[in-house]
Amino acid sequence: MAVRKDEFFDELETMSAVARKQYQDRKLAEHIQHTYKYSPAVKKLFDGAGVSPEQIRTVKDMEKLPVTRKTDLVEMQKENLPYGGVAALPLNDIERTFISPGPIYEIQPSGIKWFAKSFWAAGFRKGDVAVNTFTYHMSPAGILFHEAIRDCGATVVVAGTGNTDLQIQIMKDLKVTGFVGTPSFLMTLIKRAEEMALDIKRDFSLKRAWFTGEMLPPSLRKTFEGDYDIDTYQAYAVTEPGGAIAYECRQKSGMHLMDEYVTEIVDPETGKQLAPGEIGEIVTTQLFNKDWGLIRFGTGDLSSYITEQCPCGRTAHRITGIVGRAGDAVKVRGMFVVAKQAEQAITSFKQVARYQLIVGRRQHRDEITLRLELKDKDTDTARLSEGINRKFQDICRIKADKIEFVEAGSIPEDKQGIVDERKWE
Ligand SMILES: [Zn+2]
Repeated sequence: MAVRKDEFFDELETMSAVARKQYQDRKLAEHIQHTYKYSPAVKKLFDGAGVSPEQIRTVKDMEKLPVTRKTDLVEMQKENLPYGGVAALPLNDIERTFISPGPIYEIQPSGIKWFAKSFWAAGFRKGDVAVNTFTYHMSPAGILFHEAIRDCGATVVVAGTGNTDLQIQIMKDLKVTGFVGTPSFLMTLIKRAEEMALDIKRDFSLKRAWFTGEMLPPSLRKTFEGDYDIDTYQAYAVTEPGGAIAYECRQKSGMHLMDEYVTEIVDPETGKQLAPGEIGEIVTTQLFNKDWGLIRFGTGDLSSYITEQCPCGRTAHRITGIVGRAGDAVKVRGMFVVAKQAEQAITSFKQVARYQLIVGRRQHRDEITLRLELKDKDTDTARLSEGINRKFQDICRIKADKIEFVEAGSIPEDKQGIVDERKWE
C-alpha cells in the first residue's frame, strides 16, 4: 500500500527500529537524570531500589526499578501533599493541576503536541468540526483532547459530558463531522436521535469518531461503520502518567505505541518485561514532561504487543487491546489466563449453560480443567469439546488439559469463572 505523506503527524511515527531504540534510550536517560535531581519521589524510588540514575541507559534497564501503582500514588500523595514528591519543579511554576479519582493530583503543561497524532491518524483535519464530549472538569481528558484536536487544525465544540438532547441539537446545528467521546455515549446519542425521528446519515454530517475510555467491541464498531458510515478509531489513555499511550491507525488492527512514552508489557508479579504475544500488565513512563517524575506506572490493564510491520507505514509496535485487569487473571504455566477471555471463549458456544475454569496442580505442573454444564443433555460432547478446545487455545493462548461435563445445577451461578485450587505448600 502506498503511504501518503500527509498520513503522519511527525517523523517519530516512521522511525527505524534502530533510530527508535536510540531515541527512547536517550530520552529515557535524560528524563531519569533530570527527575532524580528534582523530584523527591524519584530519588526515593531509586535509592530504595539501590539503583543509581546512571544505571538506566536503556529501556531494558527499567526492570531494575519497581512498578508504582495507583494505590501507591494515592498513598504517596496523602503522606506528602500535594504531589507526593512527584512534581520536579517549584510548585509556583505549575501551570495547571488535574484531579483523578483517588484523589490523585497531576500536573501538566500546555503546548505539548504529542497527543495530536492520534487524532491525525483518525483523519481529523482543518475543516472538521469536532464535538468533544469528554469532561472539562477536574480530569485532564477535556482540555487535553481539545488541544490535540486543535493541533490537527479542526474546530472544537466544547460540549463536555451529558445533556443528550442538547448534544444532538448541537451536532445537527453545527454540522459536526467528528465525535470525540466513549463508544457507549455515541450509541446513546444515535438511539436518542432516532427516537426523535432523526436520520443519522441524512440529518447529520458525522463522518468519524474517536474513542477512548472504553474498549470498542467489534460488533459495535461494525454497527457504527456499517449502519451509520462513521469511521471509528480508538486510543488507549491513562491519566496519571499524562495521557494517551497508544492509538489506532487506518488498519485498525492494534494500537501503535507512542514514542513519548516508554511502555513495557510486564509480568505483574515480577515486573520483568515480556516477549511479543505474551499477556502482561501495561507499565508506562512518560518522557515528554520533565516536570513529572512518575516512573514505571503500573496501569493494572492487561495487554500484549506485536512487532509485525503495519501496512500503514508507522513503525512503532502495537498493543492488541485491553484484555482485562491484572487482578482478574491467574498465571498458569507461566501465562496469564484472563477471566474475561476465558469467558469469551467458552460462552461463545451456546450449548454451555454454566462453566468453571479450575486451575489445579498435578506433579508440579499447572493444569486447567474446564467444567461445563450443558443446556441440553443430548449435546454431542465430543464435537463440542473439540470446538471449545480449539477456541480456548486461540483466545487464551494456552491449552486446556481436560473438559468435564457436569450435571445441571452443579455449578452455582455466582461460582462461575476461574477457580484457583492450587495450594502452594
Ligand atoms: Zn498502523
